[in-house]
Amino acid sequence: MSARLIVRAGVVYDGTPSAARTNATLLIEDGRITALGEPIEPRDGDRTLSAACVVPGLINSHAHLEVNGEPDMQTLFLIRTPTERTLDAARHARLALEAGVTTVRDLGGSESNAIALRDAVARGEHPGPTILAAGRAICMTGGHGFFLGREADGPWDVRKAVREQRKAGADCIKLIATGGVLTKGAVPGQDQLSEDEMRAAIVEASTHGMRVAAHAIGTSGIKNALRAGVTSIEHGHLLDDEAIALFLERGTYLVPTLAAVMCIYENIAGGKQPDYVVRKATELYEHAGANVGKAWRAGVTIAGGSDAGTPYNYHQNYAYEVELMVRMLGMSPQQALTAATATAAELLGVDAGVLAPGRPADLLLLDGDAGADARALRSPRCVIKGGTLAFERR
Ligand SMILES: [Zn+2]
Repeated sequence: MSARLIVRAGVVYDGTPSAARTNATLLIEDGRITALGEPIEPRDGDRTLSAACVVPGLINSHAHLEVNGEPDMQTLFLIRTPTERTLDAARHARLALEAGVTTVRDLGGSESNAIALRDAVARGEHPGPTILAAGRAICMTGGHGFFLGREADGPWDVRKAVREQRKAGADCIKLIATGGVLTKGAVPGQDQLSEDEMRAAIVEASTHGMRVAAHAIGTSGIKNALRAGVTSIEHGHLLDDEAIALFLERGTYLVPTLAAVMCIYENIAGGKQPDYVVRKATELYEHAGANVGKAWRAGVTIAGGSDAGTPYNYHQNYAYEVELMVRMLGMSPQQALTAATATAAELLGVDAGVLAPGRPADLLLLDGDAGADARALRSPRCVIKGGTLAFERR
């Protein structure tokens, strides 16, 4: 019989919108939660931990594990070798886990390093969150992120690009529907992959059981991706009322990546970011909070994702995205926590993000009440992943 882990908590948020439980105990056996609620008498060999607050491990629906938060991402891809980026990805995975991220979706890398890392973590060879990986993002020729993506033009080439990602071992697919901030010359408001091309990608991906995320910032490109039938819109900053109606009609998720814009905006004074990045992020900053907040109030389902790896937006700072969902969208701290746990798990299609008997024991022990103040998520005291104590702050 393997050792049991008992966690006593002042307050437990289970990841869903349900009311918090106070003075609750969790019992963890063989990687799963087997009881949540009444006090449990320890037996010989049990380990007991206590915390002010317990929440599910955080799920970052949008990250780029090989990218390190440098101010000039496009140049980084010219000067950093694939081997260096693979080592970066492994380090970022460990740092993210230690900061409470127990599941991460990598939405686009230059090589297959996130796929290899996913398998190494699953085999227990490297510390890190559970990883889902999209492989290379699929973009039009010269499109946003072409320097790390798979350029594809026309429905059949896009379908072939999907097949290539599947062959490489990808779990999901990432499409580029509009321009973006970090590619020189790409205009966030302009369409890139067409609705026809995205529809072809989705037909191919869904044949293989793969979900599709679309990078979409501009109004028209967001609607193209929604009509094509993507599972999630990433960024979505220039959405309008018609887009909100499409989100609701189709049940599409929105991953707002507020930290991506905010971290660029907050670090303009440092002077290290290319002019085109600062200009585009400043324009989006003025609209992102208002537009995404409107979508949230209208009932659009928001899942947490930070675009970690973009300038100054570090993998170990995912808690900041939760804080920004409170500050910029008007969510309560518990609603933002739900977006970053249970809802993100639904979007990814993984068994995680909810604390309940029978569910995997991915959870964080915190010193403060995350339902009262999201800043309590910044620095977990303990991170438990798959029932094992993965990190303990000294
Ligand atoms: Zn991204």
